Amino acid sequence: MTEYTYELTIDCANKLDEQDELASYRQEFYLSASSIYMDGNSLGLLSKRAEQTLLDVLDDWKNLGIDGWMKGKHPWFHLSESLGVKSASLVGALPEEVMVTGSTTVNLHQLVATFYKPDGKRTKILADELNFPSDIYALKSQLQLRGFDPDTHLVQVKSRDGRFIDEEDVIAAMTDEIALIVLPTVLYRSGQILDMKRLTEEAHKRGIMIGFDGCHSVGAIPHHFHDWNVDFGYWCNYKYLNGGPGSVGGLYVHERHFGKEAGLSGWFGSQKEKQFDMNHTFTQAEAAGAYQIGTPHIMSLAPLIGSLDLFLEVGIKRIREKSLRLTDYLMWLIDQELADMGFTIGNPRDEKRRGGHVSLEHKEAARICKALKAENVIPDFRAPHIIRLAPVAFYTSFTEVWEVVQRLKTIMVEKKYEHYKNEREVVA
Ligand SMILES: *Cc1c(COP(=O)(O)O)cnc(C)c1O
Repeated sequence: MTEYTYELTIDCANKLDEQDELASYRQEFYLSASSIYMDGNSLGLLSKRAEQTLLDVLDDWKNLGIDGWMKGKHPWFHLSESLGVKSASLVGALPEEVMVTGSTTVNLHQLVATFYKPDGKRTKILADELNFPSDIYALKSQLQLRGFDPDTHLVQVKSRDGRFIDEEDVIAAMTDEIALIVLPTVLYRSGQILDMKRLTEEAHKRGIMIGFDGCHSVGAIPHHFHDWNVDFGYWCNYKYLNGGPGSVGGLYVHERHFGKEAGLSGWFGSQKEKQFDMNHTFTQAEAAGAYQIGTPHIMSLAPLIGSLDLFLEVGIKRIREKSLRLTDYLMWLIDQELADMGFTIGNPRDEKRRGGHVSLEHKEAARICKALKAENVIPDFRAPHIIRLAPVAFYTSFTEVWEVVQRLKTIMVEKKYEHYKNEREVVA
């Protein structure tokens, strides 16, 4: 674990900014002059490059019409594939193992439809009780489609403390009744990183397929999906990857599964040269492209062209280094300034276990979040009592982190949160 030393002064924050190799990337983003954005793990901000590639695509539509599919500056027909190539290093995959297509939940449906093969006694799906609701809804409906009762066939590993999932408990639940395992890479509330390598090895020893939801890790931490032999993965591109609201999702399938019949077929899963033969016999693409379904949402792919260039330019290793430094500093400030105010840091402190955000627990969390917004700090709230704070490597400065904690301290000392109801907003 890296130990840093800080001082409790704004000068220290300024110094950290001066030493920051990524500081210049702040200028690449549209940041509000009046507020501090700490919610990049829910919706990443717009970069100028993402804006530009969206405008490029609009221009091609304006000027080329249908010909944009092949003759656009970023030919639409190959965009899911070319963005897959650009995303591959972020998940540690081969270029042909990744596709930018669908959405997180739709990709999960596709991958479960493809990889869940109930056989004899092996009919159950293993997940965890802290996973994101959409994933759980998808798994339950997939079980129902196959005629199984989700109450008996979805096994959810329990958390011992409501925050974390213990790998030992997951492994203990890998019985000979489990056909498929779906887990998050990083838990969306506590920010815990699961040991994907170990879980994959243990699943495979028992003949179980395993896939990961990378929504809270892709773009924030390095992954080695291919080398770890992870069977499949899926993630969204609007959180750490700054692809914009409703941005098209990502999926990964290990190359040893190439050729596996797609559970949900559609013509964009065709071999590219054959797609327009308009044959009623489906000729599936050889690589991860096979798991696409219909026409990609080009406008929601377009910002990613520019956004992913930023990630390629800097590389996930340097992004992770800065992110760790930012969250380390944030936690240090919380320890110093907010002690005895009822806060608990609910994320792992260990660098190997900590994702990209700090999970701050407080029984008044909902209204503390409202007070923060009134003080021009944008956090997010996760029921029942979590304030998530995500300083993002590309655009959050150390001075902002300092400022967030100062404002939070004022809110607590002056009890400003008492002006609000302790209830969440519709979109939290
Ligand atoms: C954000 C998120 C989703 C969202 O899924 P969409 O299909 O993009 O709405 C799903 N799972 C996890 C873990 C998430 O963090």
